[in-house]
Amino acid sequence: MRFIQAKGVKKAAGILAAAVIFGVSCGTAYSAPTSEEQAVLDKYAEYIDTHKAYDFGYPANHDIHLTEFYKWYLDSHSYRAMVNNAGDPFEIHEGGHLNALKFERAVIDFFGPHYGFDLNNLWGIVTFSGTDGNSHGIYFGSKYLEKKTQKKPVMYVSDAAHYSNMRLADVQNIDLVLVPSDEHGRMIPEELESRLVPDRPALMVYAMGTTFKGGVDDMDALNAVLAKYPDIEVYRHVDAALFGGYLPYTQYKDAVNRKVHPFDSIAVSGHKFFGMDEPAGIFLTTMEVKQNQNPYNVTYLDGSMPMINCSRSALSPLKLLWIIRKYGDKGFTEQAQGMLERAAWLKAKLDEMGWQAWLEPMSNTVYFKRPPKAIVEKYDLAPDFDARLGGELSHIVVMQHVKLDKLQDFLNDLSAQK
Ligand SMILES: *Cc1c(COP(=O)(O)O)cnc(C)c1O
Repeated sequence: MRFIQAKGVKKAAGILAAAVIFGVSCGTAYSAPTSEEQAVLDKYAEYIDTHKAYDFGYPANHDIHLTEFYKWYLDSHSYRAMVNNAGDPFEIHEGGHLNALKFERAVIDFFGPHYGFDLNNLWGIVTFSGTDGNSHGIYFGSKYLEKKTQKKPVMYVSDAAHYSNMRLADVQNIDLVLVPSDEHGRMIPEELESRLVPDRPALMVYAMGTTFKGGVDDMDALNAVLAKYPDIEVYRHVDAALFGGYLPYTQYKDAVNRKVHPFDSIAVSGHKFFGMDEPAGIFLTTMEVKQNQNPYNVTYLDGSMPMINCSRSALSPLKLLWIIRKYGDKGFTEQAQGMLERAAWLKAKLDEMGWQAWLEPMSNTVYFKRPPKAIVEKYDLAPDFDARLGGELSHIVVMQHVKLDKLQDFLNDLSAQK
């Protein structure tokens, strides 16, 4: 598709004349998309608008309210500059390049205490995604352990955890032990114990809400196993992409509080619970972990650059801060409660219907015997398979936009096909 098209000669001549009059140098002139191109774009926009209400299978929040942000962004002309958060939001220098680091820092400072970090021992960044957050957790964890022990760690993660963790172990060349999970999607403590490598440090990745079943690793039970081997140095990273967003706003808030269940770093998505309109996330850790990294002092950025990426989005922190200010803890609490209530309602309705379904504690993800293909397609339901639960499964992730009337439509479709 061509979006950029040179203007006609006549128009270009006019612009040239105008440029001469206003004393500016003349660059290439550009135009908006052609009418055919515009039609393709409009069709795309219409498709998004009509389908989002029934997008049940993946953990995105389509209840997005960034209209006022975009209005400010346009009106203030902020959109006319390429602002870049290359740099450390905890080491901001006056007069540096154009950045939004102080807003990024405000986002990290807002979220830190929700996961039990004290503001005087917190470091973090706004990431590009949940995967990017896990990438930092795994990288920081392995470098921290190597520095402490002079040995390469072994990474342990359950086979129900998000695949990004396995991919990242591969990318970062870290020895990986995949620990079997139970039928609820939780790492089995005895299986971890039988696989522990005694003379190497352990990089634990705990899944806080497995992708399909919404299982949560029992950190206390797994930590009890690790405590039996005091010679094994341990780093704990929590992959809480989806659940980490809403759990602080529920009765289960202690599950993601490192003061209650110790961990060293956590990754949370920005576009799952928090309603960002593009992939983003947060990565949080302690100053101690940050100070035990390969710093790579970069003179032209005037500081150490422990994070993996150089250029990072300045727009994501601005949007996240806008969202935080708009809803605050009160708004997030209402949204989190609503999601869990509707998930429980859906599970109860499926039970009433006699359609096999499961809902883990703390979870907004109802999983159930897979419906016929037409329903799977209409609601974009992700597939899974577990012989222990009768075979083919699907799930619905009850996000903010998954409303009761839409869930009722799904139930009606299901009972009609039963
Ligand atoms: C979604 C998810 C990820 C991946 O996050 P992206 O933002 O898609 O990269 C990782 N872990 C869990 C538990 C997730 O739910």
